[in-house]
Amino acid sequence: MGILLRGGTVVSSQGTENLDVLLTGEKVAAVGKNLPAGDAQAVDCTGMLLFPGFIDGHTHFDLEVCGTITADDFASGSRAALRGGTTMVVDFAAPDKGETLARGLERWREKAGCGTACDYGFHMTIDDWNEGISREIEDMMAQGVTSFKMYMTYPAMMIPEGDMYRALLRLRETGGIAGVHCENDGVIRELVEDAKKNGRLAPSSHPRTRPAPLEAEAVGHLLRLAQLADVPVVIVHLSARESLEEVRAARRRGQTVYVETCPQYLLLDDSVYGSPDYMEAAKYVCAPPLRKREDQDALWEALRNGEIDTVATDHCSFTTAQKRAGRYDFTKIPGGLPGVEHRGVLLYTYGVSAGRISLANMCRALCENPAKLYGCWPKKGVIAPGSDGDVVVYDPAANGVISASGQVQRADYTPYEGWKTAGSIAQVYLRGRLAVDHGQVLETQGRFVRREKGRL
Ligand code: MN
Repeated sequence: MGILLRGGTVVSSQGTENLDVLLTGEKVAAVGKNLPAGDAQAVDCTGMLLFPGFIDGHTHFDLEVCGTITADDFASGSRAALRGGTTMVVDFAAPDKGETLARGLERWREKAGCGTACDYGFHMTIDDWNEGISREIEDMMAQGVTSFKMYMTYPAMMIPEGDMYRALLRLRETGGIAGVHCENDGVIRELVEDAKKNGRLAPSSHPRTRPAPLEAEAVGHLLRLAQLADVPVVIVHLSARESLEEVRAARRRGQTVYVETCPQYLLLDDSVYGSPDYMEAAKYVCAPPLRKREDQDALWEALRNGEIDTVATDHCSFTTAQKRAGRYDFTKIPGGLPGVEHRGVLLYTYGVSAGRISLANMCRALCENPAKLYGCWPKKGVIAPGSDGDVVVYDPAANGVISASGQVQRADYTPYEGWKTAGSIAQVYLRGRLAVDHGQVLETQGRFVRREKGRL
């Protein structure tokens, strides 16, 4: 029994090698040259790249934003993820203020308990701070929720910086790690007020009220608190060149800083907000906003040289009808982009195939680093004996075109409409079972992954 993937090229963080891969039960049983099939079903993978299942460390399924709920719930979002080669997501459990972390986790496990097709874990959002929550950090760690999220913007989510500092100290004690959304909220609020006062309510005001220096300032600010608390942190969805400079400064001081960016910051720029069609512009509203071409170049370079560790999507999908709520006021547009379905093919096409990054870079950013950082290595993130049988069979010759028609994610658009792809995903295996075959998502059941303490 089992499946023998024969004749493919296995991709790892070290590079590539022509190797057969034997999947038995839920695991990779063997990796090597000319493996005997025995009673396994042999699948010809000649000409194919075999990646470890991609991990998306930043998704938002079934989340309420601006009084509306994301178009994707766990069932549709996870199917879209799988279709794009992502066999595990780490979503964000977000307790309401006043609620215990335990209750927040319980609610999110209920949401994900209904039909999540890929494996999943949760970051726990710290949007409140008190003695009870401080104690609960340890409970979360024990339950396999080893990463946390803090916000420096969004009043509903932020905590005072003294509390943020306390939380960082607590994470140092427990071995947890925080990912932080870095933008200077106070100044953003002033800029929004100015825009409103002057009647500048179109989506083009969105990037102007959240400029790159306010992200960089918050990154620098957080990193000084982390320096004092002597704890590593993750900068999530870093979008701007200036923010990278803050990261470099902290690393020169000897701090450990992990950096995530997203395909939208690598591939899209703020010219989209200038569209005279407000609904078209609204589709791209997310925070941080899309930046400049120069920022994209800096991000690609940082991804290539290892200054950026992971590429996640921050998938937070809304339909154009939902985005319409903000057509007369950009502050009422629910923020977020759909993307969980297309990350792998975008990184391959516009990264590897375009010569900006190597296959090893791609494997580090999508597989190995998120697995290590979020404490599920080597169960996930590598094709090696004993690892979960999560494999993406990528056909570099099967070129395609991205389109919202036929996508599984529930937004009725994609920011990458009409974009050509170099190759496409032929099959995806989840824990040894065929989960996707040429775009067809088959019946699979995702599992909650109890994670260990993570570090790169
Ligand atoms: Mn997010």
